[in-house]
Amino acid sequence: MHPNLKHLIDLQAADFRLIEIRDRLSKFPKHLAEVEARVTTARQLITHAKEALTTSLKERKTYEMDVEQWKERAKKYRSQSGEVKSNEAYKALLHEIQNAEDEIAKAEDRLLERMVSGEEYDRQVKTAEAKVKEVEAVSAKERQTIQTEYNAAQKELTAAEALRAATMKAVPEDLVDHYERIAKRHGGIALAEIRGEGCGQCGVHIRPHVIQQLQRENNEGFFHCETCTRILYYGAAPGLSATSASASTAAGEPPATPAHEN
Ligand SMILES: [Zn+2]
Repeated sequence: MHPNLKHLIDLQAADFRLIEIRDRLSKFPKHLAEVEARVTTARQLITHAKEALTTSLKERKTYEMDVEQWKERAKKYRSQSGEVKSNEAYKALLHEIQNAEDEIAKAEDRLLERMVSGEEYDRQVKTAEAKVKEVEAVSAKERQTIQTEYNAAQKELTAAEALRAATMKAVPEDLVDHYERIAKRHGGIALAEIRGEGCGQCGVHIRPHVIQQLQRENNEGFFHCETCTRILYYGAAPGLSATSASASTAAGEPPATPAHEN
């Protein structure tokens, strides 16, 4: 294999790592926003319960006043009952008194309802407040975890960028340019491993003589996929080039301590 191709494989491995880390980093804001949204939703429950409680208290005041007013009226009608002259007028007055009594009863019912619901809303406020405390405690931990993971990913990014820069130094500048032009067009992936008889990235069939060339130990040529234009290589997967290279060297050497040879 061309030594520069090996370097490119290392460069691609470094880029794969960078793609993975950057992808991870890009997800942090969304994750953090989800945590904030949960706190906001919990806080809204308090607001809603408090609003309901306020409305209920206002209504309670209104119905208290209604009861008072109707009681006043009933009292006034009763005080008038001694002064009426005709039977008709007396009947009408009795009717008014009865009506006022009915309204008192209705207003008292509504008042009682509001007192009961007021207690319920009060409970809801307290429950919502407890819930918010709970959610806030969980969120604080989640934020901390996210922050820790983010810091770790940032460190990984710095290390991966340094590794890439070091890897890049081994590759001639024009080849780096060539690699980066292809990578830019293809989502950061400039290299394609041969898989079976096809391009490992786009899947198109690769001519057998190209595969044969790439399989040769002493191959010095560069080949591109005719469809996706990526630089083709055979064998070592990105990031494994060093390992597989040393493995193949080891395999090529006679074993140091032959086992059960006779
Ligand atoms: Zn291809």
